[in-house]
Amino acid sequence: MEPRLPVNGDPRRALPSVDRLARLAGENRMDLPRWALAEGARSALDAERERLAEPGQEAVSQGELAGWAAAEAARLAEPRPRRVVNATGIVIHTNLGRAPLAPGAAAAVGAVAAGYSDLEIDLATGRRGDRLARVSERLARLSGAEAGFAVNNCAAAMLLVLDTLGRGREALVSRGELVEIGGSFRVPEIMERAGVRLVEVGSTNRTHPADYEGGIGPDTALLLKVHRSNFELQGFVAEVDLPELQKIGGERGIPVVEDLGSGTLVELPGLPPEAFAPGRLDRGADVVCFSGDKLLGGPQAGIILGRAAHVEAMRRNPLARALRLDKLSLAALDWTLGAYLGGRAREEIPVLRQLGESQESLEKQARELAERLARLAGEAARVWPEARTGFVGGGSVPGFELPGWVVAVDPVQGAEATATRLRHASTPVLSRVRDGLLLLDVRTLLPGEDREVERALSEALRAEPGGLAVPR
Ligand SMILES: *Cc1c(COP(=O)(O)O)cnc(C)c1O
Repeated sequence: MEPRLPVNGDPRRALPSVDRLARLAGENRMDLPRWALAEGARSALDAERERLAEPGQEAVSQGELAGWAAAEAARLAEPRPRRVVNATGIVIHTNLGRAPLAPGAAAAVGAVAAGYSDLEIDLATGRRGDRLARVSERLARLSGAEAGFAVNNCAAAMLLVLDTLGRGREALVSRGELVEIGGSFRVPEIMERAGVRLVEVGSTNRTHPADYEGGIGPDTALLLKVHRSNFELQGFVAEVDLPELQKIGGERGIPVVEDLGSGTLVELPGLPPEAFAPGRLDRGADVVCFSGDKLLGGPQAGIILGRAAHVEAMRRNPLARALRLDKLSLAALDWTLGAYLGGRAREEIPVLRQLGESQESLEKQARELAERLARLAGEAARVWPEARTGFVGGGSVPGFELPGWVVAVDPVQGAEATATRLRHASTPVLSRVRDGLLLLDVRTLLPGEDREVERALSEALRAEPGGLAVPR
């Protein structure tokens, strides 16, 4: 039997109804929709009931409960995804939406988003046009590839390539390259979905040309190379590079495909040369695929470059329709490729600018920001500039470190607590915590965001413990 509490002794009995609390919460927040206030009131009451289930707890005031409900309602009603400030120093951060678009690319999206566009009409003739013709042409021009194409993302590109070139047949992949990219993209599984039989060759750490030669049979449709985007193999290792693969495949008329993951269309000094996609074609790949929102610095997209016959077959594949780019991404991609064509990429594309930033400039930014943050922190934290290593980002260039500068903060309330509060600031700021310090990396701050870091840190150092959120 349930233990029975005396009616007046159980403070849960005195809690307001959902309706009443929602009305109370809405009194000072006319801007919040009713559904969110009701949901916020429900969460606040659940949290309070749970808290009061522990013996000896006292009920909070209705005013405070209404405050929780309103805060939760505001959280439910605000648009998502929200803009955040990336002070992690990780340039391509998948959880933070990867590459920020150049302002010009964002404006191009805005210009077509709210109106009609010439997406699939040729304004010169008034006839139906091809939405991808422009971008395909620009990709080929920039890369020197025979042809280019773009779909929704790199995973979609792989699916399309595999389905087009290998459906019902076999693809050879080194056991050292059967990788899983975050978000459940696994090479063996995507091959299965594309109806391509996987033939594993070599061993985890070493694969030799003879392994590929031995794996080739009458059903071999392609040799697939997959970039190890999020881990490194070190020690007693060997892999077969593109020129050798091309020799093996070329003699037998078997195409060599590379899933590059992160590719660029300019050579970036200081970054591994294999990121330069046109170089991969020069070295023997017949087809390469990479993401639009990694090192390229554009929108989410899957870029395909390669031989005209293969690309044409992909364009005609019915799957291409299911995987096609939407008009917003297309507008951003077209603008981004335009910046590359105009020689403006290094100045205009945020990812390239961040990667190319000099030590002197980073140090100067860190010193200036540290001075301002130290002033506002006062006794609440010690603040100083410090040389620290940043990262290109998982899923792009593994283990590749970027020497840079951070503002180190040692708050009285602790680094973890401050990092949490920075995430709850009016414009959330994402930081790194290392060695018990809060690190704010200046490399990944976009123009003007230093002001937002100031505001957020000021909020974070002053916030009352607990605050107005529903306790979780
Ligand atoms: C990132 C990555 C993918 C997936 O790219 P999306 O654009 O996120 O679909 C596939 N393969 C490799 C090697 C990658 O690095």
